[in-house]
Amino acid sequence: MATNRSPSSAGSSATSGRGLEEERSSGSPVPYREGPLQYHPAVHCDFGQKAARWISWSRNNPGRRYLTCMRRRVSSFASCGLLPQFGFGLPAAWFCSDFVGGGCGFWEWYECDTTTTFLKQLQVDLRDKVWRLSKEIEDLIAATSAARTHVEQMLVQREQSEKKMSAQVLEWGRLLMEKDAQVAAVVDRSKKLEKERVVLRSIILACICVVIGMLIK
Ligand SMILES: [Zn+2]
Repeated sequence: MATNRSPSSAGSSATSGRGLEEERSSGSPVPYREGPLQYHPAVHCDFGQKAARWISWSRNNPGRRYLTCMRRRVSSFASCGLLPQFGFGLPAAWFCSDFVGGGCGFWEWYECDTTTTFLKQLQVDLRDKVWRLSKEIEDLIAATSAARTHVEQMLVQREQSEKKMSAQVLEWGRLLMEKDAQVAAVVDRSKKLEKERVVLRSIILACICVVIGMLIK
């Protein structure tokens, strides 16, 4: 087991600079097969707590495991909301209350650096590939969600437009019936006036005939 305990030294960028930023921002590219405390023999931190074993995904030490005080690891996230991915079935309170607070600073490599430069670069390339694909998946999920929301909004707008159009059609139908009734009333009135005109002409003609008859006598 490696014992160099300087996380900020050269070659141990798992917890320093770019490597740490990458770990924090992107997480492990693969799920852990074992929990951070599922190893033997146990290594204890400066305060007698079993140290947690993690996998470094830094550019200089990809895939290399290291030990750190669990409190130090947990406190580095500064948020219990990010902890379930490291839960491994352990009670959330174990992370979120008892162990948030800074830890003792214990840190050391779990194993020696025996990887070749080629394999390191290969692991980094695979790591980056997984992170890029994960990001693409997240973007696709976000885009799909946004598209679904947009389609739902369009469907709601379409339904509202159809309801409005139906109401407009009903209103137009009602107005058309009113106009038809008015036209029918005008036609009836016209027929009635025509009949009255005929009757009036007949009366006038009869009167003229009577006057002419009286004049002839
Ligand atoms: Zn400790």
